[in-house]
Amino acid sequence: MIKVDDIHKSFGAVEVIKGVSFEVKQGEVVCIIGPSGSGKSTILRCINGLETYDSGTITFDGRKVDPSDKSIVGIRTQVSMVFQRFNLFPHRSVLANVTEGPIQVKGEKKAAAEAMAVELLEKVGLANKLDAFPENLSGGQQQRVAIARALAMRPSAILFDEPTSALDPELVGEVLTVMRDLANEGMTMVVVTHEMGFAREVADRVLFLESGGIVEEGPPKELLRNPRHERTQDFLHRVI
Ligand code: ATP
Ligand code: MG
Repeated sequence: MIKVDDIHKSFGAVEVIKGVSFEVKQGEVVCIIGPSGSGKSTILRCINGLETYDSGTITFDGRKVDPSDKSIVGIRTQVSMVFQRFNLFPHRSVLANVTEGPIQVKGEKKAAAEAMAVELLEKVGLANKLDAFPENLSGGQQQRVAIARALAMRPSAILFDEPTSALDPELVGEVLTVMRDLANEGMTMVVVTHEMGFAREVADRVLFLESGGIVEEGPPKELLRNPRHERTQDFLHRVI
């Protein structure tokens, strides 16, 4: 479904992505781990066209992801992204945050968009917060609204960029539970995370990225328990 083939990307003179290739099949969950500055966010942003890349190709269902082409609009509705900071519209209610995309981008009718939003907010455990505003929600609740908002676009895949790292520890679990449920329902997901427990339990494959390159990739049982490369071992010793 998502195919990243030998992409390179520089900011100015600094090459930050140095030939990264990997594939995500429909229904797979791929977790990307690695130190700060290794290029994890940049790769996610390239996949849904928020960032350009210099060479290589990224395709989504066989279509080239090219931020300068108008096809990118369609690709973005199919590949939703959930950010570390929830990026909700502060002056809109929870319900309006979730219906905004379907109404504005997909041209759905308000009543239909609202019916779907209510369903999705029930799914993430927020049926009682439809009229609340983001500032009156906890971080974990805001992130669950952000996930409902991503789902409202009926995406084929969701990219998560450290969705729990801005949260107080006691709020992490509720967001991971929603993500685990989505994975179990067969959603295709790429998840940048420091939550090794989640990666171990949910990921089909884990990629370890360092300095813009994939050092090692494999099933979580192998990569997290018995990493082959010294650099992966060092990283895991530091984070676990
Ligand atoms: P973190 O774990 O801290 O989120 P990351 O692995 O997501 O890190 P990226 O944000 O992808 O790392 O950044 C990779 C490198 O590219 C870093 O050296 C960063 O400073 C640099 N970089 C990212 N965005 C820009 C930008 N817009 N302009 C210049 N340099 C950038
Ligand atoms: Mg990042």
